[in-house]
Amino acid sequence: MNAAETPMVKAEAVSKAYGSNTVLRSISLEVKRGEVLCLVGPSGSGKSTFLRCINHLETVSAGRLSVDGSLVGYRQHGDKIYELHPKDAAKQRRDIGMVFQRFNLFPHMTAVENVMLAPTLLKKGQPKGQVKARALELLARVGLAERSDYYPSQLSGGQQQRVAIARALAMEPKLMLFDEPTSALDPELVGEVLEVMKELAKSGMTMIVVTHEMGFAREVADTLVFMDGGVVVEQGDPREVLSNPQHQRTRAFLSKVL
Ligand code: ADP
Ligand code: MG
Repeated sequence: MNAAETPMVKAEAVSKAYGSNTVLRSISLEVKRGEVLCLVGPSGSGKSTFLRCINHLETVSAGRLSVDGSLVGYRQHGDKIYELHPKDAAKQRRDIGMVFQRFNLFPHMTAVENVMLAPTLLKKGQPKGQVKARALELLARVGLAERSDYYPSQLSGGQQQRVAIARALAMEPKLMLFDEPTSALDPELVGEVLEVMKELAKSGMTMIVVTHEMGFAREVADTLVFMDGGVVVEQGDPREVLSNPQHQRTRAFLSKVL
């Protein structure tokens, strides 16, 4: 398989348990380069846990999980699998951007300083002027060119979340994970964040988005995955899953969020 065909994310029978509590049961899915996958399902179904496994915040209990052809947190040599050295795992993780429900910006730093932080710490040797120019470019991309010197407390929730997206993009990730990025926002601020995400998808970014915004899923996603109780109940073209769900559990969930 050549590099262009290697899926960006591949989960093969991924399971995760906390003690006796199995929260992911044999999850299999694939996200190709440039694709958007929307992950939906009731609270507690394991959506965040799955994203956290991809982003090295949890380890899987069974199965194989790979990003861009490399096992997450492990290295394969012949038939043997070795745990990655934390340094190499951290390097792998830098290719993945994540945006959370809570924006977690540093309150004592301006928007542009928040966006500059990771590249300043991790891309040592890059001239500061260059890091700043790139950060300003990213803020412009999320529609915040005029707000670069504002502190988080001077920004609306929607603006803060857009800064958080710019911050995640600053490390030039090849994959972006979004965990309910609009769930903490006032309804009138949801649209501006979804708009930025839509633009990002259009630009070719590979994305996994946990969301209850079915309009976004219908319009932007290549694949919609419905999870419940740690299993993938159904997945497919979002328009098909949304208009013609095959399972009672999917229908019950959709009747609540649509
Ligand atoms: P979702 O994001 O779909 O709401 P989560 O992935 O957050 O679901 O949680 C799935 C299940 O895993 C829940 O039952 C939750 O209590 C459990 N869980 C999540 N994180 C932990 C943890 N660190 N330790 C123990 N149980 C956890
Ligand atoms: Mg969650």
